[in-house]
Formats: sequence, C-alpha cells, structure tokens
Amino acid sequence: MTTPALASRLADIVGTANVLVDDAAMLPYTVDWRGAYRGRALAVVRPDTTEAVAAVMRLCAETGTSVVPQGGNTGMCGGAVPDATGTAVVVALGRMDRILSVDALDNSMVVEAGCVLSRVQDAAAGVDRLFPLSLAAEGSCQIGGNLATNAGGINVLRYGNMRDLVLGLEAVTPDGSIWNGLRALRKDNRGYDLKQLFIGSEGTLGVITRAVLKLLPRPSERITAMLGLGSAIAAVQLLSRLRERCGDIVSAYELIGRPCFELVWRHIPDTRDPMAGPHPWYVLVELAAVGESERLRENFESVLAEAMEREWIADAVIAESVAQAQALWRLRETIPEATLAEGPAFRSDVAVPVNQVPRLLTEAVAALSARWPHPRIICFGHLGDGNLHFNVLAQSGDELDPVWSAAVADVLYDAVDRYEGSFSAEHGIGQAKRAALVRYKSEAEIALMRAVKRTFDPDNRMNPGKLL
Ligand SMILES: Cc1cc2nc3c(=O)[nH]c(=O)nc-3n(C[C@H](O)[C@H](O)[C@H](O)COP(=O)(O)OP(=O)(O)OC[C@H]3O[C@@H](n4cnc5c(N)ncnc54)[C@H](O)[C@@H]3O)c2cc1C
Repeated sequence: MTTPALASRLADIVGTANVLVDDAAMLPYTVDWRGAYRGRALAVVRPDTTEAVAAVMRLCAETGTSVVPQGGNTGMCGGAVPDATGTAVVVALGRMDRILSVDALDNSMVVEAGCVLSRVQDAAAGVDRLFPLSLAAEGSCQIGGNLATNAGGINVLRYGNMRDLVLGLEAVTPDGSIWNGLRALRKDNRGYDLKQLFIGSEGTLGVITRAVLKLLPRPSERITAMLGLGSAIAAVQLLSRLRERCGDIVSAYELIGRPCFELVWRHIPDTRDPMAGPHPWYVLVELAAVGESERLRENFESVLAEAMEREWIADAVIAESVAQAQALWRLRETIPEATLAEGPAFRSDVAVPVNQVPRLLTEAVAALSARWPHPRIICFGHLGDGNLHFNVLAQSGDELDPVWSAAVADVLYDAVDRYEGSFSAEHGIGQAKRAALVRYKSEAEIALMRAVKRTFDPDNRMNPGKLL
C-alpha cells in the first residue's frame, strides 16, 4: 500500500491531525533524545483510545506494516526509534494520557499508557499515596514506556522496579486483539502471568494501552544527605550498616564518582559543590519513613557518627529543607545531561551483586587503563541495587567511534560477566545491545525468548530490529 493510501486509512481511525507523514513533523519521533539513533518512518500515528490502537494494529496487520510503539522517547537504547528502512508506523501513545481512577482504599490506580510518570506520581500524592517509581526522565517518560522497559530508577532498593509496581495490564497484540488484563488483584494464580511478559518486552510483543498500578503509603518524613567517601568499599559497608540500623526505610542510595560532579559543575547552571573539600566518591542517600519517625534522624546521625569513626565517610551534608534536598538531587539527576554536554561517551548500565561492585570497579578501571591510558570514567549509579552507569568519555572527536565503543563494551561486559552480572540492568536492549544479548545469554535462553516472540508476533512486525 502506498504511503498516502495508508495515511488516509490511518486518518479514518484517528483523524488527519493525528497522522504525520512529513519528515520534519516526524523528526521528534524518529530521532532519540540524545540524537544517537536516527531512523525513518512511513507515518507517525497518535491514537487516543485502546480501540483506536486496535484498529491501527489491524490495519498494519492487513497491510503487513511494521509497528514501533513509542512513549516519551527517553529510552537509552534506541528502542523507540524506527529503523532506517522507513517502512514502519510509529504508534505514539502521548494522547492516551488519562488517569482513569485513583483508589486510596485499594491502594491502586488505573492509568492510560501515555500518562507521563510525574503526573502519575502527583495523582497518587493527591490522595496521600506514593507511586514510587522515580527517575530523572520522569517529566517526559510515560507509563507505557516504563512498563515496556521495566524501568528502575532511584527507589528500586526499597520498592522494586516497574515489574513490582503493577497489578494489571491491557495490551493490544499485533493482530489487533485487545487483551484486557486490567485486574487490581494482588493474588491471581490462574496460569501464566501474561502481564509480566509485556513488562520489559520493549514494544516487541504488542502495544501496552492501560495499567493498574500499585500505590503505597506516602512517607511523612524524609532525610536526604550527601556523603563524601574515600572508596566504593566504604559505601558498601555503610549501606549494610544503615540497613541493619534503619531497616528498609533506606529508599535511595546513589554512588557518584567525583568526575561526574565536575561535569555537572561545569555544564549545569546554578550547581556547586556542597562540601568543603573534594572526595573521590559521594553517596546521595535518602531515608523515608511513614508515621512515627522521631527517631529517624537520631538513628541516621548515630550511624553517620559511627561511619566517621570507622573512616567510611569523611564528610556529610544533611539537607535541612526541601529546597536543599532538591538541590542535592539535582546534582545527581543532571549527570546524564552534563555528560552529554561534555562530548561523546560510551555509556553502560551494568549490575553485579552489591558486595562485588568495588571489585568490578577496580577490575574494569585496570582493564580499560591497560588498553587506553587515562580513561575518563564517569561512573555513578544505584549502588543499593548493584547497578552502575559506568561511562567512558571518548578521547577525541565529536562523534562516538563505534569500533572503540564496541571494544570498551567488550572489556567492561566481560568483567561484569565474570561476576555473573548483567550488561543491561535497567535500560533494556533496544537496538544498542543486541550483540551483547547474543554474546552473554545462553543459547537456551535466547531460543525460549524467540519462541515467545514468535507466539505473539509470528510475522515479526512489532518493533523490528529491537531486542531480538
Ligand atoms: C535523564 C534520563 C535519566 C534516566 N534514568 C533512568 C533510570 O534511572 N532508570 C531507568 O530504568 N531508566 C532511565 N532512563 C531511561 C528511560 O527514561 C526509561 O527507559 C523509560 O522507562 C522510558 O520511557 P519512555 O516513555 O520514554 O519510553 P520510550 O523511550 O518511548 O520507549 C522505550 C521502549 O518501550 C517501548 N514502548 C514505549 N511505550 C510503549 C507502549 N505503550 N507499549 C509497548 N511498548 C512501548 C518502545 O518501543 C521502546 O522499545 C533515563 C532517561 C533519561 C533521559
């Protein structure tokens, strides 16, 4: 079918204004936020109901057209960007942004897939509940994208990742059928849990259209602090002690190497070093308690005093106001932006068991330095989950050299593999990490994944060139 003919039939479903075919108009949907992945599309379609998504999917099935689901296009692996063939329709979910219900009694809410994460958090707060998924892209990423990538973020340590925050899902399969699994059940053992297959499927099995999300009690007291440390081992020791003394109220525990902050101070306006002297490592820690919490600060301060005595930490700044806490978080959250401003970089998202993080760091730095003297490593991450963004700035040039980048990946991922870790902890595979998937997953596991893909999408039309 020609593009005008397909566009005309898509317009019959969603209206002319919601079908884009002009290259310039499609640009925000065909390039990712970093400009690292550029593709082409036959059309971008913007449905606003599940039924419209289903009708689009039926039309694409009838015409043999590929489909690329897209949320906020904030993904890190090029998963939401179409390939270069220009043969796929991008289904952008941004108009499906209704919050359908928020139930404080049941601690659940029903939302459409195009809801921006921060709106979902606000709606939960509106009934004095917490939707705990939190990441630096929360002002743009959408619940559908969070589900499709099984997003993690800063609160996984306490609340789990997206997979743990969902009760039910609705999705449209590649043939245009609607699967309604929108159940608010906390127990349901009637066979395979299909929603879990869609979560983390990166748009390769169908389009997620609605979800029932779990809500939690909203903390009434928070402590946010930045700590200066001499080593990553000290950060692991302190985390263990904190959890021993304070329990599971430790909700975020972010490890940040000093070079990250140096980039932030250079590139992000109105940021500054909150500490008197420099430290090789920093930890941004947050504790959040519900109800009786007078002893929260007392306990925290006594752990910090012990940590000082044991020389695990050299300095600590505790936020005394919401504004101060926000300023500390801004330093952490703007690291990706500051890295982008500095120049091209190899980026990673690896995970190993928490207690192995220091060894991995030592090993990876030594292995990289042996091949490329003085690598500029920008390392930060969710230490509480053993998840590091171990990034390496390119030594020269305005473009990332793919050969160098692949060689750095091999060195790092081989080290991660020796610790039985993951080369993709929370960002997924997209188009960026397909080679690594084949290299580090067993043949048996890949074969099972392919079998699942064939069952849902026998014609391989859903997000081709991604994940598998
Ligand atoms: C500054 C910054 C910080 C970030 N920090 C984190 C972090 O801490 N933790 C983390 O996990 N991620 C992080 N990310 C990555 C990103 O924000 C997440 O992966 C997010 O979940 C993607 O959501 P999105 O709506 O932008 O999805 P998109 O980028 O639009 O899509 C991502 C994938 O999901 C698929 N998809 C999107 N919507 C649907 C749908 N409705 N149905 C089926 N498939 C769909 C797409 O096809 C694609 O494969 C960060 C990104 C940025 C820019």
